[in-house]
Amino acid sequence: MTGPKPGQASVYETDEPVLYERRGAVALISLNRPRYANAQNAQLTYALDAAFARAGADDAVGAIILRGEGKHFCSGHDISSPGDDSDVRRDDRRSLWWDHSTKPGAEFLYAREQEVYLGMCRRWRDLPKPTLAAVQGACIAGGLMLAWVCDLIVASDDAYFVDPVLRMGVPGVEYFAHAFEMHPRIAREFLFMGEPIDARRAYQLGMVNRVTASEDLDAVALSMATRIAQAPRLAAALAKLAFNHLEDLSGKRSGMDAVFHMHHLAHAHNQLSGGKPFQERPNAAPTAAGLKPG
Ligand code: ZN
Repeated sequence: MTGPKPGQASVYETDEPVLYERRGAVALISLNRPRYANAQNAQLTYALDAAFARAGADDAVGAIILRGEGKHFCSGHDISSPGDDSDVRRDDRRSLWWDHSTKPGAEFLYAREQEVYLGMCRRWRDLPKPTLAAVQGACIAGGLMLAWVCDLIVASDDAYFVDPVLRMGVPGVEYFAHAFEMHPRIAREFLFMGEPIDARRAYQLGMVNRVTASEDLDAVALSMATRIAQAPRLAAALAKLAFNHLEDLSGKRSGMDAVFHMHHLAHAHNQLSGGKPFQERPNAAPTAAGLKPG
């Protein structure tokens, strides 16, 4: 890892890791760490949560687009940039889990991931306004979580999706929606092989709604979101609740709870046997874009 060493302060390259604007009835929320392919550090995660909250509270907003600045949507959780702030205390936690930064053993990562990965993703998935992810370039590991919490996904033709973390000793990302995003047979292949699937295959699998040319991605996303935003607010919210509820009746929420603990058994095993929550092996993850997923 090339991020800050223990005891070293993280260095942020921007004060605005998330950008927010409104166009008509659509809120555009943009991940804004293009230098690091929009890797998710806590700074970005809390800014993203604030942006979703702002869009949810604004009566003029009927639909929300989540997009990324630069060539890539998101390279995953930040485990390698100078802005890796995973050991920093936050006093603006959104769940009731306590501060992780001073906790020993497995408690450190468990409390942290309850808050910033599982907890945040569920908050965003439950936001009662329609959300649409516009994905270009890399969508790796933690990046999948951001796309998957959205109601619709539009991908540019250069987009690719991959969860390579099995090779790092962890059974998939924390928000374990794989078998809901694609047929379980294909989801097994996706996770066991750890190979990227391109936008066209993701479309064939039903994981994305539309594939566009790169230069059309923002316009197509805005056009769809603008149309969606015309629906009556409460009806749209109830339609979203209906889908989420049906998925949860099918086991999405309770299954994810169970898998989260398997995920943390793996983190604890890796910590005990190798000193780090991930196994680091040469070529452990695809680096097609020179990216480090997390
Ligand atoms: Zn984890």
